[in-house]
Amino acid sequence: MAIKVNEIFHSIQGESSWSGQPCVFIRLTGCNLRCAYCDTSYAYEQGALMEIPEILERVGELRCSLVEVTGGEPLLQADTPRLIVRLLNAGHTVLLETNGSLDIGVVDRRCVRIVDIKCPSSGMSGQNDLRNLEKLGAHDELKFVIGTREDYEFARRIISSVPAARGRINFSPVFGAVDPRLLAGWILEDRLPVRLNLQLHKIIWGPEATGV
Ligand code: SF4
Repeated sequence: MAIKVNEIFHSIQGESSWSGQPCVFIRLTGCNLRCAYCDTSYAYEQGALMEIPEILERVGELRCSLVEVTGGEPLLQADTPRLIVRLLNAGHTVLLETNGSLDIGVVDRRCVRIVDIKCPSSGMSGQNDLRNLEKLGAHDELKFVIGTREDYEFARRIISSVPAARGRINFSPVFGAVDPRLLAGWILEDRLPVRLNLQLHKIIWGPEATGV
């Protein structure tokens, strides 16, 4: 069965603990959420159907062992777990960035699952499937995009319920909405064991750039 793909490109990983590394991104079409700060609305509808072997061939041409499957929301498409298995079996290190509203249990455990937990200012925090917290393995990650102090407090409450060994935790300021120095100050003051992420790709290429 074919998968609807918005874009496949080679860039620098801008977020998570993999930030700074060259990475191939497979952006799949479609999203079940509408976050207030969404910067990938072009992936809601646009895309072309591709068979899994075609996707693997394109990824192979880009000659990079690290691959991220992202969206939109990649788990909306039924064949995404199968694509991930094929990428893993081909020898890639695979990251999945998912919006946290769907079951991550369908994804091969060899894949690093980066689960976004939606904070209140996204307008989508009611959509979080918090049962995913129980499914995180040691190499999986959590991500919180923080736009307000209320978001920060929300994220702090959630992480207090996650055993430290279960995943790495990333806090990202909403680009242009929260001064990273402010968020850094809150993290330091509370001595939170989290990673501050600055969406490196936006710093390098600018907030409007796509396909980089
Ligand atoms: S989950 Fe991601 S792609 Fe979907 S609306 Fe939110 S920010 Fe945009």
